Amino acid sequence: KAIGIDAGGTLTKLAYVNEFGELVLEHFPSNDLHAVTEWISKQPEIEEIGITGGRAEQVKDLLKSVKSIHYIVEFEATLKGVRYQLMQEGHQFDRSIITNVGTGTSIHYMDGETHSRVGGTGIGGGTLVGLAALTTGIYNYNDIIKQAQSGERQEMDLLVQDIYQGMDTPISGTLTASNFGKMGIDQTKNHPTENILATVQGLVGEVITTLSIQLAEQNQVEHIIYIGTTLNENEALKKIIANYTKLKKKTPIFLNDHGFSGAIGALLNI
Ligand code: ATP
Ligand code: MG
Repeated sequence: KAIGIDAGGTLTKLAYVNEFGELVLEHFPSNDLHAVTEWISKQPEIEEIGITGGRAEQVKDLLKSVKSIHYIVEFEATLKGVRYQLMQEGHQFDRSIITNVGTGTSIHYMDGETHSRVGGTGIGGGTLVGLAALTTGIYNYNDIIKQAQSGERQEMDLLVQDIYQGMDTPISGTLTASNFGKMGIDQTKNHPTENILATVQGLVGEVITTLSIQLAEQNQVEHIIYIGTTLNENEALKKIIANYTKLKKKTPIFLNDHGFSGAIGALLNI
């Protein structure tokens, strides 16, 4: 039996094929790598492990009993996984931008089987959780995204139309001119937690999308594939990303198991 592992900055993802031939995917917090190794030690007959991610070396050290461990660099694993997922989900294109919204965000240009890292930003899933925690005291990812879902941004974000009052706007008036920009202009008010969380999520989503769009334009590609566990069950974030990507005449793609490309790639590499 073989397992693919992607040990990331926040989450360690596992991918394996069970006895019914189904692909099974799980994740554990990376700050509890012992839970991962304990889980693995309970699985019968694991002979091979494919591993990737920034915490790979740490996990490897804890897996002394496994016979054969295949290491693959993160970007190679991600690309392998994404190509497999695209095929499984019936997508037919070779050139695209891949934006991996992990703890931080890493952006790649894919052309067939080749790829290069074209950009990135420290604004990512870690920022979403970090800023949310700092501003509201809520640390739990699922609580954050649930509350963000019902929040509104118009009392905090400054839109282009808020600046161009009574005038034609030079660009679409409903675009964000300044994330959180109203906070420094309007009188201080108490803002409901949901609104703060929705606005933090808006900031993260818009930065990531802006950068991805620019890199798509630079490389003349139409499709942007957004992956990473930050998108997990996060319809509000996906909506921000999708709407802005479409507005800029690019096509956003979300894969079904978007957090697991690296783990799937590591499994395929065995
Ligand atoms: P990197 O690739 O940057 O090393 P990573 O691989 O750990 O990091 P992902 O697993 O793709 O990154 O995404 C991590 C993000 O996913 C977190 O920052 C958080 O926003 C979000 N997330 C989703 N579910 C959870 C969860 N159960 N616990 C913690 N974070 C979660
Ligand atoms: Mg990762």
